[in-house]
Amino acid sequence: MRPIYKPKRVIVTPSSNGKEYTKTLLHRIKKLNPSVEIIYSDDDQIQSPSVENKLVYLKETLVLTERKGKFISTFESPGAIVEDMTTVVSLNWHCAMDCEYCYLNNSISRVQWQYIYTNVDRIVGELKVEKYVQWVLRTIWSLYNEYSSDVQTKISSRFFSLADTIRIKNFKQPIIKDKTSALVYINTRLEELMNGINPNSSTNSYKEIKNKLIAHQDELLGSENKTVLKIAEMLNTPIQVVSKADNGISMKTVQDSLDALRKVVDQNSDLSQLQSLKKTLKNAKSILEKIDDISAEDMRDLRSKLADHFKASTQVTLTLLPMEYTDSFAIDHIDDNLLTFFKLMEKHPEFEIQLATKYPHVENLVEKYPHTNVRISVNFNPPKVIEQYERGTYSLEDRIKAVKLIQAKSNWRIRILMEPIILIDDYEQEYDALVHKLMKEIGSKQIDSICIGSMRMGPRLRSRIKQYFPNTDLIDEDKYPMDKPVFPDTKWRYKPETRADIYKKVIAIFGEYSMDHKVVLGAETSSAWDDIGLVIPK
Ligand code: SF4
Repeated sequence: MRPIYKPKRVIVTPSSNGKEYTKTLLHRIKKLNPSVEIIYSDDDQIQSPSVENKLVYLKETLVLTERKGKFISTFESPGAIVEDMTTVVSLNWHCAMDCEYCYLNNSISRVQWQYIYTNVDRIVGELKVEKYVQWVLRTIWSLYNEYSSDVQTKISSRFFSLADTIRIKNFKQPIIKDKTSALVYINTRLEELMNGINPNSSTNSYKEIKNKLIAHQDELLGSENKTVLKIAEMLNTPIQVVSKADNGISMKTVQDSLDALRKVVDQNSDLSQLQSLKKTLKNAKSILEKIDDISAEDMRDLRSKLADHFKASTQVTLTLLPMEYTDSFAIDHIDDNLLTFFKLMEKHPEFEIQLATKYPHVENLVEKYPHTNVRISVNFNPPKVIEQYERGTYSLEDRIKAVKLIQAKSNWRIRILMEPIILIDDYEQEYDALVHKLMKEIGSKQIDSICIGSMRMGPRLRSRIKQYFPNTDLIDEDKYPMDKPVFPDTKWRYKPETRADIYKKVIAIFGEYSMDHKVVLGAETSSAWDDIGLVIPK
């Protein structure tokens, strides 16, 4: 069993300082590491440390603070993948473990610390209305699928920001607080909600153009060239027109103002600073041409189906995932936040709690909550992958032991998570041996599904890996050749045929054990599902 996590330093922010829970946390940490450095900051916003490897510093440090905003959010699916709607509860942020490929390392310039939130009990208020918020979001989602010719296979950035806006407003002042108010909320805002996620709606198209023009203006204002500065100033007119376009200004007025600007830019097209703006003005024209608001007739049709979709949404299993931006098990010997969350959830059996972990020391939770509605995804990889790339996590043997304990003591459902598959030497034999071992040792009791996926990384994560793990071979092009992202996907991935081949082999070996379970792909493109003949869930 690996040693438990002990922070080297703790930063206590003013919002947490002096609280009873903070004192408890500090007491536990000092017991774990008597020489821990404790720093009291003057501000809840802590400056990023000027150290060479920020990731190492982050992992060594725990920051105790209060979370200011809401705890619950809808997860935005990255790139062009297939993924169901996931609702995340941020019990803490960042992870004490050290997987080289962890996507959280991407966010290090934005969220620079490993946080323990000392006001987790405030989730109570959000939980009270969460069921109704999820009904609203599911209804909007399924109504939009009804309207759209392309089935939405993931949460788009537009849906994500709509969900976020709804939650933020409802967090400040609950409007969606029971079944009736949830239905009224959708009914009274149907046009706004539907067009909010329709990428070709005039609202979204104008917003897109406006944001681009503002970004150009900011950039051009940094120039010392008088003509460029004059054009930066001229951008005010189309920006204002586009801003007011929703309020009755016609598309012709928008076009005219963009044409006027385009003329001046073309007259000065020899200036290098204007090249990018020139492209944007050209693109703006095609964005305007593609505007396709949901028609009044379609809207009437959607309204007539609203009650049925709402009813169907109330019958979908509602879920909460408290472990997306962290693996909470890694520090729950310090913060007990998972136990606190499970206690809060006693009043909300309508939710399935989803856990996902590579550090499943589940004894406490299983003992106290054996019959809670839980689906735990336990992540498996061959020992070579765990040792080399999943630093600080449980070994394969420990993960298997944890699953056996869950099977023996609880009725939690278990998902076998096998991702990311990494093409180590002899990977086919390694994954073959892994599936046989899992099936022989844990069998199929309580297994509700199998999820497999392979290594993927966005361009920024690739450079982060290089920066934080200079000796890794994970991004070595000779060892692990990957294809560049193909739009609209945003990830580097192994070749499609290599992925399809290993997925089929892994699924076939599970099949040898009569594992007729639901098989899904983790963070994969829809073409990868098609390649292996898996039906995308609707
Ligand atoms: S266990 Fe999960 S969250 Fe933690 S470092 Fe590994 S990939 Fe990231």
